[in-house]
Amino acid sequence: MVQKADKLFINAHVLCMDDDFNRYEKGAVAVTGDHIQGVGNMDQLTKEYQAPEVIDCKGKILMPGLVDAHTHVPMNLLRGLGDDLRLDVWLLGFIMPVEREFVSPEFVHLGTSLACAELIRSGVTSFADMYYFEDQVAEATAAAGLRAICCQTILKFPSPDADSFEEALAASETMIKKWKGHPLITPAVAPHAAYTSTVDILGSATALAQKYDVPLHIHIAETSQEVEDCLDEFDMPVVPYLEQFDVFNAKVIAAHCVHIDEREMHKLERYGVGVAHNPTSNLKLSSGIAKIPRMLELGLNVGIGTDGVSSNNDLDMFEEIRLAALLAKGSSGDPTAVPARTAIAMASSMGAKSIHLGDQTGSLEVGKKADLILVNIDTLHNSPHY
Ligand SMILES: [Zn+2]
Repeated sequence: MVQKADKLFINAHVLCMDDDFNRYEKGAVAVTGDHIQGVGNMDQLTKEYQAPEVIDCKGKILMPGLVDAHTHVPMNLLRGLGDDLRLDVWLLGFIMPVEREFVSPEFVHLGTSLACAELIRSGVTSFADMYYFEDQVAEATAAAGLRAICCQTILKFPSPDADSFEEALAASETMIKKWKGHPLITPAVAPHAAYTSTVDILGSATALAQKYDVPLHIHIAETSQEVEDCLDEFDMPVVPYLEQFDVFNAKVIAAHCVHIDEREMHKLERYGVGVAHNPTSNLKLSSGIAKIPRMLELGLNVGIGTDGVSSNNDLDMFEEIRLAALLAKGSSGDPTAVPARTAIAMASSMGAKSIHLGDQTGSLEVGKKADLILVNIDTLHNSPHY
């Protein structure tokens, strides 16, 4: 029997990015409401489905929308500020004072809208954000029609939207209650990093994430300095330090993890922590190169992030995918490290798992959200291709 769908995308090279990496050279996708109803060969699908709207994809690649696993979208308004500084000088001496002076709800809404336009341009349909006035990030993102994990930042010192951590924590809970269950927005909490948190912050942010079953987003071991300071002060590296406060019992998205050792990787894998790898940001701020091939070997879900525009200068996810593959090859001495398929998975199916949205997006499968992009591969700089 012929089934009804809302939209039928036909004549596409369908790249599913599911567990079996299915692809259909002359494929089609049926969509009803906001979810995928059918995926397969065009000949078969056009017999099975009828839709009032049929979109001819003209041989372009139809694939899952990309997932930006770590960013700070309002920072689009700070592009180019404080280039060529090391991370601690850049963040604590430059960016944070600028933010305390200028960041307001209007700033956040405007910056998010601009970032959403840039993200759409590079094929991103989902992202994990960490910033201030996160309610405004959620508002602007939902208005743009993108999917996001919106994580309210908590710091041990005054921030643009809170004079104390208690205030930031209360704002996080208010935002979580407001947005929980929204079709596009997943509210969450973000103790910024171990070195910008207190024991109280780590404990209460974890309790909040667990209470509402929402993700917890945190920067981990971004620089060697962070690890050295943690070793000096607490006699242990960053991951075991955070483990003491049960942080990993929440659904954690760990940004960077540039300087974690083998034991820390095993721990993160055991807890089901998602890692967000940020190649450009780690290079621009001279943070180092994360050991991504080893993390993948151990079975960690590693996503790719742009980080904020201030530590990147753009939100081009295809550039990040390419860099993730090349960095892994160049730093490991192994040209087979992070092949193209893995790099794309890190920005789609595995990327979605890394931000704990794997059940909703990241691959073209029946029942998942219809987060679709079309990629034109017949451009001058890509012709001919094999
Ligand atoms: Zn960041």
